[in-house]
Amino acid sequence: MTQFFSAWHFDGKTAVRRKVDVEVVGASFLLVETERRHGPFGFAELRYVGEQGGADVYRLDGDDGWRLGLNGPVPDELVQKLPAKRKYGGFIDRIGLGPASIALALASVAAVAVVVMSPQWLAPLVPVGVEKKLGDALVGDFGGRFCDAPKGRAALAKLTKSLDPKADELQVEVANIDMLNAVALPGGKVVLFQGLLDQAKSADEVAGVLAHEIGHVRERHVMQGLLRQMGLAVVLGGFDGNGGATLNNLLSTTYTRESEKEADDHSIKAMAKASISPQGTSDFFERLARMDGSDRMDKNGQGRALANYTSSHPLSDDRKNLFRKSRVKGKTYQPSLTYDEWTELKTMCAQDRDVKSGWGFDIG
Ligand SMILES: [Zn+2]
Repeated sequence: MTQFFSAWHFDGKTAVRRKVDVEVVGASFLLVETERRHGPFGFAELRYVGEQGGADVYRLDGDDGWRLGLNGPVPDELVQKLPAKRKYGGFIDRIGLGPASIALALASVAAVAVVVMSPQWLAPLVPVGVEKKLGDALVGDFGGRFCDAPKGRAALAKLTKSLDPKADELQVEVANIDMLNAVALPGGKVVLFQGLLDQAKSADEVAGVLAHEIGHVRERHVMQGLLRQMGLAVVLGGFDGNGGATLNNLLSTTYTRESEKEADDHSIKAMAKASISPQGTSDFFERLARMDGSDRMDKNGQGRALANYTSSHPLSDDRKNLFRKSRVKGKTYQPSLTYDEWTELKTMCAQDRDVKSGWGFDIG
């Protein structure tokens, strides 16, 4: 008997989030859209990534960007076919927990502590300098997609400085990519995508998103994600993998609900300190909320632009309320940038004649 389960899917080639049905065929499955199907894929090739917005997310072995998200309670028939949810990371996965325990018992106590500690506990122990080196190796110049114009840069630096007292430890960039997204990457790097600036109506609207990503950096969520994706080897043994593939992986890293909450809390505090009104960010999330669920792409690629940020973050509607509630009545707020500064920031990519554009990373 053929069974169908509803799910979402990234094919790893485009940023389109597809609504699909999982059609089980023995040890394999197809992902079925209205007019096309993907697959077959083997259940044995699936690897558990983690939970994201209430969905269990799986990747496909050997395909970095491929993701399958199963919403809500997964039916038993499907659970039986899916791989176990890994808890201990790749090293222990590969050799099994038994032999791993024996191997670990032979190692020094310190080494045992390091290996069995979860990314959550381990991340803060990784020196910032090590993370910085890794970040430079992994992210590079984003394939020449970082935009550069003096006034736009100055505006971005001013905004960053108002949100973080040690802004010089951060590297905030605008990437010339038409995607509504913002990401924190290893080494204190935060990337705002041009598609996000295009959707924002003021610097205040961007401030909350930027401060949220800075929150991921400051709470060491980025290092946690890196350890989860690549294991401890990346820190101990250096990095010798495929930069482009790894970067794609990092860009699709999602954080736990707790981490997202911490980043939002960080953002709200940082904005209050800078006397930037959270109203703009709330308005921004309100507009995103109206578009949430618009995971079917329209002709203008609008769905494509929306897919990323809203699929990797908590519901915009909840966040709209969270930021709005943080507004203090009677408090005097300052605009985070002047109108001219905001315009320079928003048009920085358009002003940069040399910047590369588009998606798809092939950087070594
Ligand atoms: Zn986040």
